Amino acid sequence: VRAPVRWAWSAASRWLCACTLSALTHIPVALSQTEASTQLAVDIAPQPLSRALENLAHQSGLEVVYLSDVIQDQTTQGAPAGTAARDALAQLLDGTGLTFRYLNARMVRILTGEAPLETVVVIGTRLMPARPAVAAPTDAERLRLTAFDEEIEQRIARGQLLYGRAELDSYLQRIAARLLSADGSEAGCVGVRVIKGADASAFALSNGSIYVTTALLESLGSEAEVAAVLGHEITHYANDHVLRGLREEDRRTLVARSASMLAWLAVGVAEKHAGLASPHTTAQVPDQVLRMWARASMTGYSENLEREADDRSVRRLIAAGYDASGAVTALRHLSEQVPPGRFVNPPPLYASHPQLARRLSSYRDLLAGRLATAVAAGGELRRSEYAAQIAGLHLDQVAILLQAGDFDRADTTLDAVIGADSARAEFLRGEIARRRDPGAPAGSARALAAYERAVRLPDPPAEAFREQGYLYWRGGDFAAARAAFASYLARAPQAADAPMVRSYLEQPPSGSSSTKAGAAP
Ligand SMILES: [Zn+2]
Repeated sequence: VRAPVRWAWSAASRWLCACTLSALTHIPVALSQTEASTQLAVDIAPQPLSRALENLAHQSGLEVVYLSDVIQDQTTQGAPAGTAARDALAQLLDGTGLTFRYLNARMVRILTGEAPLETVVVIGTRLMPARPAVAAPTDAERLRLTAFDEEIEQRIARGQLLYGRAELDSYLQRIAARLLSADGSEAGCVGVRVIKGADASAFALSNGSIYVTTALLESLGSEAEVAAVLGHEITHYANDHVLRGLREEDRRTLVARSASMLAWLAVGVAEKHAGLASPHTTAQVPDQVLRMWARASMTGYSENLEREADDRSVRRLIAAGYDASGAVTALRHLSEQVPPGRFVNPPPLYASHPQLARRLSSYRDLLAGRLATAVAAGGELRRSEYAAQIAGLHLDQVAILLQAGDFDRADTTLDAVIGADSARAEFLRGEIARRRDPGAPAGSARALAAYERAVRLPDPPAEAFREQGYLYWRGGDFAAARAAFASYLARAPQAADAPMVRSYLEQPPSGSSSTKAGAAP
């Protein structure tokens, strides 16, 4: 059982509070029993209703949507462990005067008793509003945007940030094409690629390039969820948000800056989150610029543009035949990833608390309000397809977190990998133990044990033998060290460090070299 959500997100109706439209149109739903019959693993305590509903979603996967002013400051008596999700929801609402109705198998809408009947059904092309008219970029703006895009992409290339799994990129590309078909857009106008990143993030450039980090993919659970993220980024591109963002910022003129400054920051953040060494990029950036970056750069447009991106994202999701609950689940999954206090500055796109809470609230408002009647019963989640596509990514993410020096998350991620009994998993376990507390005897012993398990499993990484060799050598077991080094060299004769490892083998035989224990050449 994962820890319950720690942060209370306010039910404050910040965006769509004026929208009190409530639809009571009954949509008959053939309930898949999965969500509705999932039992609570732990009690839901008496608490504010909004938090209790978060907890229910967390435990059961049943997403609950409502207009933000429906819940307000209601509280609940809670529900005990063992209760089926549907009954738990009824218990949570007991005494509040609220009722609920299934929108589809995975999404429930909370209603007030006296909500008016809603007859407008939003379907088909009416789902996607026309793009807002935006004045074409001036030559100066075009130059700025191009310079920005080019600098970002060059630095992604230079930093070797691309994850580089062609099948995964083209899978995401197919999802984007399906979403674009919702408003008849040409499938090739965006190009989706995965970049290595320790933190969940995604951004779109004005040239149509969309980047999503491995951490983001790792934290999502279905194709519908990743489609919600892509739909958001597609809107940033398709509705000229970079250009509009630049114009909004220019009007504010809070901080003098240039596109190259933004690009520099953007990649600094990406590199930092990928765990790539670039201490110079983020360390020296003044706070004022970071705040500006957080607000105005690609990791967060104005509230207005973000709301537009979320609105179109849900509409695309529905129009493309995905289960709209994916939009809520994606943000919930991402918000559950963020430990309190992290990301003081700069907040990556999907990991900033206030932004996520606000966006969750906005999604719920949309789905419980204007789009409630458009939510179809047959939308797809495609969980298993998604799981198959990212199966290989989990251990890579452990390695990325390890590289970023985030040992706790590397450990947690490794523990969560299903079937983590592979040689590579054991090697990574060893690496975490060794690097978490370098030179400490207990850590070295744990690391050595993990490397020893790794080399006994099929297809061990060559590095497991090398690291084993170093630890044997340090422990004075030179014969074992030599055997391990020889195995490493047999597997990786061309490795950059092969000459150095070979130099161990050329040292005098064990016994006479005991004084060299611990002294690497
Ligand atoms: Zn956005």
